[in-house]
Amino acid sequence: MIKKYLTFQKNNGIAPYIWTVLGILPFYFIFQSPSTIEIVVGILLTLLFFILYRIAFLSKGWPVYLWTLILIGISITATSLFSYVYFAFFLAYFIGNIKERIAFLTLYFIHLFSTSVSINFSIVMQEKLFLQQLPFVIIIWISVILLPFSIHNRKERGQLEEKLLDANKRISELVKIEERQRIARDLHDTLGQKLSLIGLKTDLARKLISKDPEQARNELKDVQQTARTALSEVRKMVSSMRGIRLRDEIVRVEQILHAAEINLIKEGDFTPAKVTLLTENILSMCMKEAVNNVVKHSGAKSCFITIIQSMQELVLTIRDDGVFKGEQEKLKDGHGLIGMKERLEFINGSLEVSTKEGTTLIIRVPNDVKPGMEKEEKND
Ligand code: ATP
Ligand code: MG
Repeated sequence: MIKKYLTFQKNNGIAPYIWTVLGILPFYFIFQSPSTIEIVVGILLTLLFFILYRIAFLSKGWPVYLWTLILIGISITATSLFSYVYFAFFLAYFIGNIKERIAFLTLYFIHLFSTSVSINFSIVMQEKLFLQQLPFVIIIWISVILLPFSIHNRKERGQLEEKLLDANKRISELVKIEERQRIARDLHDTLGQKLSLIGLKTDLARKLISKDPEQARNELKDVQQTARTALSEVRKMVSSMRGIRLRDEIVRVEQILHAAEINLIKEGDFTPAKVTLLTENILSMCMKEAVNNVVKHSGAKSCFITIIQSMQELVLTIRDDGVFKGEQEKLKDGHGLIGMKERLEFINGSLEVSTKEGTTLIIRVPNDVKPGMEKEEKND
């Protein structure tokens, strides 16, 4: 209950108090009226306003506009009879919530015009009242101008954010479906075919076993071979699904550099704890591509690979002591560096290339494993 209240507080700030004061305020103005009839009319008008205001919020379609026009009428009457302008504030809030752009603009201008005219006739032209109420009238008038737009824009932004969130969810669903289909296809193309071949061959061997034992033995040999191939394909599939870990990639990188007679100096922990498997995969691909470039283009003697993980991010640096061969513009043509950049952007990472002394690639990715998720992610 307390929690609920606190959330309410957090979401609405002081707004509920302002609404409450604005809800009570009309009665103060009404009771200043000298005639009883006017007081009764005032109370009825105020009650009618709040009832219709509620109905307008619950309605959909054209009745909304009808209720709004009636509410504007009540607001004008209250301003003329009791110099009470604050209904305009309620209306500004309501109009801001109208989604339809044309209806919103039409009602906005009708309301602005009617409020301005009624303020002018009922308050500004009566000198005594004008001075008394000037600051409040200014606040109301500015609210009538700005509030609907601010609410309308906030709503639109909220809707767009919601749509974006939906689209992202949909994309991740589609990626999952696509991945499942790929696995199914792979299973069908590799295991499925091999298993049906094994089925056929064993059937044949069973038939041949008494008639031609030699042929049967050959068929069984084929069966064994097919089973082995199937097993190795499954292993390959599983390892490709698991993705490439940095600790495995660094071993391969070491071998490549060793073969190219380039000295490798590595520093840091190549089993980073705070990044997801996807991020580690992308980092591995980037490291591999960077090292390929070192071997292909740099003419370096040494290559330095460092990993530094802080509270917020992981920084992977690949530096060589060779000479950068490309021009900065040419980076746009190459696939390697651009591909790296695109992949990193996908996980909110970044790539910085410095070509002053040799080539240095600085890759930054945010830590994306939240505390508590670590075990799940790393349990592969
Ligand atoms: P791809 O990676 O598609 O095979 P690429 O290696 O030419 O082609 P990039 O990896 O984008 O493309 O590199 C662009 C260019 O930058 C290279 O052609 C090369 O001239 C230069 N370059 C990149 N890395 C290095 C490096 N470590 N040392 C020297 N030159 C480099
Ligand atoms: Mg390359």
